[in-house]
Amino acid sequence: GTWPATIPGAAAAAAERWPDRVGLIVGERQWTFAQLWADARAAASAILASGVGHGDRVAIWAPNTREWILAALATHVAGATVVPLNTRFKGAEAGDILRRAKVRMLFAPGDFLGQDFADLIAGEDLPDLAETIRIDSGWDAFVARGKGSDDPAVDAAMARLTGDDLSDVIFTSGTTGRPKGALTAHRQAIQIFGDWSVRVDLREGDRYLIVNPFFHTFGYKAGWVPCLLRGATIVPMAMFDVGEMVRLIETAKISFIPGPPTIYQSLLQELAGDRPRDFCSLRVAVTGAAPVPPVLVERMRGELGMSNVVNGYGMTECGAIAMTRQGDDADTIAHTCGYPLPGIEVRCVDGAGRDLPPGEAGEILVRGHAVMRGYLDDPAATAEAIDAEGWLHTGDIGTIDARGYLAITDRKKDMFISGGFNVYPAEVEKLLNAHPAVAQAAVVGVADERMGEVGRAYVIARSGAALTADDLASWAKANMANYKVPRSFVLVPDLPRNAAGKVLKTDLRA
Ligand code: ATP
Ligand code: MG
Repeated sequence: GTWPATIPGAAAAAAERWPDRVGLIVGERQWTFAQLWADARAAASAILASGVGHGDRVAIWAPNTREWILAALATHVAGATVVPLNTRFKGAEAGDILRRAKVRMLFAPGDFLGQDFADLIAGEDLPDLAETIRIDSGWDAFVARGKGSDDPAVDAAMARLTGDDLSDVIFTSGTTGRPKGALTAHRQAIQIFGDWSVRVDLREGDRYLIVNPFFHTFGYKAGWVPCLLRGATIVPMAMFDVGEMVRLIETAKISFIPGPPTIYQSLLQELAGDRPRDFCSLRVAVTGAAPVPPVLVERMRGELGMSNVVNGYGMTECGAIAMTRQGDDADTIAHTCGYPLPGIEVRCVDGAGRDLPPGEAGEILVRGHAVMRGYLDDPAATAEAIDAEGWLHTGDIGTIDARGYLAITDRKKDMFISGGFNVYPAEVEKLLNAHPAVAQAAVVGVADERMGEVGRAYVIARSGAALTADDLASWAKANMANYKVPRSFVLVPDLPRNAAGKVLKTDLRA
């Protein structure tokens, strides 16, 4: 059938269609779709009673919990826009986003790993922020401010909400510069992640374990929204812990797990351990953003029983873009990030904007319903990202094969030209990472009088390994084309990273 137009519309529909089905499991507790919808309405009544409403911005800065889901749903019901914050942020990073998004109300725990988030922003100048609600200790008192789930003000707010209202402003990870707030409407979130749920074959009754943080596009929107649309149960993990994940798979009969390849590696290790494991409920794995070896895909299918392994490509500015399809072979899943979702057009162009033949690397452009409405208060950056014909310039370098499958090679900002040859640092890093003593390598282009630019590699050695810059240089010469070999190697104890864990090349170049 057709999807509802808004996220609360999807929650209301789920409560009506599957009132007694469990929608959420946290620890030993579980809630039905009917309860969750009533709880979200009661929280929305409290938000409205606090003077926050249509068009306002409400931030959530918390690990994956029931209250995250309820605060987000309630914010949506009130017609306000959710601004998620990364739990690894320090005060200045959070303050910057709260200020730029003019956030009125903040939901945050009073204690997460011994930290009160409100303390972190105590020194920040935040003229718009009226209050911080402690979602652990203060949740019930907050909800008691409202008139409960039958509040007519909630119905009035719902009646006003349309698919074109903004559901969220998610800030990009800040890998290539200052994080930018991508504006997305409800209708977009529903269609993108509705289509996503079809492609990944999320089914009614599935148990969806979510380790990906809710604050990211592939958290709340790719997690909770599909569960609402398909009648699946979400099982959030606030902190990643293999033992806890294994316990949840066995007790909550988890069938669906998105995550980086390392998660499935850990599960395979558990399976090989001394204790017998019951993983027979597992069916679907969704991965992306990191290389997945074909042998891992085979083992996930054969040993973990995950018959459906999906690889995908997406970004904050347009959610999910491409995904592999059920029945794709292990090589396709390992080496591509799939085929575009319905209604999404992709192109691969050279520097002059001309379409490239299949297999040739260029910038990936995306057009369609999924593309964000723009960047928050930044018309210049928006105009740079989305051209007059509606194409989003992703800043990613990749290829499109003859079947229409995409593969992402690198970031446009990272690529450099050395003596006329395009060098893709991600490729050079992959080659360097194959050196047995290398834990991680990061390559950037630096100015060179003769070659234009040359590579410089920053390398973290594996602990205990004796590694010198000279070793690396001669190894690199023997293992890659000359123009790819970094001119200099710098051994470092660590690399600068953002709160998403991605290496900050801009810092390395500076
Ligand atoms: P910023 O835009 O602030 O520099 P960011 O691009 O890292 O940060 P996100 O929107 O969180 O912020 O990440 C999206 C990016 O992640 C994509 O543009 C792409 O570079 C990378 N990515 C996503 N999926 C894949 C994939 N399957 N393979 C390779 N890279 C991927
Ligand atoms: Mg980006």
